Amino acid sequence: MTRERAAGEPDDHQDIREAVRRLCDGYPGTYWREKDAVDAYPSEFVAELTQAGLLAALIPEEFGGSGLPLSAGCAILEEIQRSGGNGGACHAQMYTMGTILRHGTDEQKQTYLPAIASGDLRLQAFGVTEPTSGTDTTALRTTARRDGDRYIVNGQKVWTSRAEHSDLMLLLARTTPKEETQKKTEGLSVFLIDMREVAGKGLTIRPLPAMVNHAATEVFFDDMAIPASSLIGEEGKGFRYILSGMNAERILIAAECIGDARFFIDRATDYANERTVFNRAIGENQGIQFPIALAYAHTQAAALMVADAAHRYEAGEQPGAQANMAKMLAADASWEAAEMCIQTHGGFGFAREYDIERKWRETRLYRTAPISTNLILAFLAEHVLGLPRSY
Ligand SMILES: Cc1cc2nc3c(=O)[nH]c(=O)nc-3n(C[C@H](O)[C@H](O)[C@H](O)COP(=O)(O)OP(=O)(O)OC[C@H]3O[C@@H](n4cnc5c(N)ncnc54)[C@H](O)[C@@H]3O)c2cc1C
Repeated sequence: MTRERAAGEPDDHQDIREAVRRLCDGYPGTYWREKDAVDAYPSEFVAELTQAGLLAALIPEEFGGSGLPLSAGCAILEEIQRSGGNGGACHAQMYTMGTILRHGTDEQKQTYLPAIASGDLRLQAFGVTEPTSGTDTTALRTTARRDGDRYIVNGQKVWTSRAEHSDLMLLLARTTPKEETQKKTEGLSVFLIDMREVAGKGLTIRPLPAMVNHAATEVFFDDMAIPASSLIGEEGKGFRYILSGMNAERILIAAECIGDARFFIDRATDYANERTVFNRAIGENQGIQFPIALAYAHTQAAALMVADAAHRYEAGEQPGAQANMAKMLAADASWEAAEMCIQTHGGFGFAREYDIERKWRETRLYRTAPISTNLILAFLAEHVLGLPRSY
């Protein structure tokens, strides 16, 4: 579907945007509603996105991808969300593969990246969060103990999205007890687990029903033996590796939020023009049109921050502040737009067939995950403004 661009909307990567829109046209609201109703994974959509090479957009050409810059990934995810779809089903591959690319050995890159790019291997699971440590990542309790040419993993992850729909999992575990390290950020390591090899042999995955259809799970490791070659980079440096991937994650998810916000603004504008109450379009009322205009202005501002963060990332900077601000402002903008949209639709906003309530639930996630707003504010206060560390 060709859509008229409103003033100030992005004009980057138009060919990619058009290709994504065409693909998403085959996955209308009915498709996503049916999946949502039974918590089913959108396998057909993810398969087509993979076949079209869109999920491998950021993988370098030498490893079978398109070697496109981060802003192309942003454009892809933004358009999926704007179409009414949910890129949360598969977005992780775009940023988790960066850990292998930056820190993996040549052999690991050759083994995994081309297979991920072709869709032969799915890298959709990212295990960091644990039930007891929460946002305090260095307090995580999952351990990986070296035993000859293996590591033995014990512990538990929670909220591990898509573990049942992924072959590989990027896992953060402690390899040196915290008491034996100089800094609590040391002694954590990253592993690339081939879950097909360990399913039922120390690895248990349980679905975690949630407000949104995000294929969330709890993952249990019980003396799970993995080859020592699963280690990515150096032992003990895992926290740094995960941090180095977070800017891309934040920026890509911010782009999804911008897509959500544009979805809500598109729908609210259409509805406000069409819906007649008291013999006139509800959009003639400033009480209806101003919130739409305000959501639009806030979305445009957030989109500029996302573009700035992506631009800096592509220029080789480590734009931690911009990536965090982009994610926070975009998540706020999408939530404001969601609220505005459901209100604009009156009672029909609650009717499943309009897709508003589903998208409203889905976009709410991004004020909490992958990092909650408070933690972004704490980061800005401490690292940008020089205020005392608050935790
Ligand atoms: C649907 C879904 C999918 C997810 N997918 C994944 C995944 O694939 N992989 C993964 O590893 N994780 C995943 N997560 C986890 C997600 O990243 C965390 O839920 C999120 O980072 C918040 O952590 P927490 O839930 O432990 O909250 P907590 O850390 O327990 O925090 C609870 C609240 O307290 C606030 N808070 C905590 N400390 C402070 C402080 N010092 N100052 C101010 N406020 C504070 C937080 O901001 C938050 O609002 C997912 C979560 C959800 C809901």
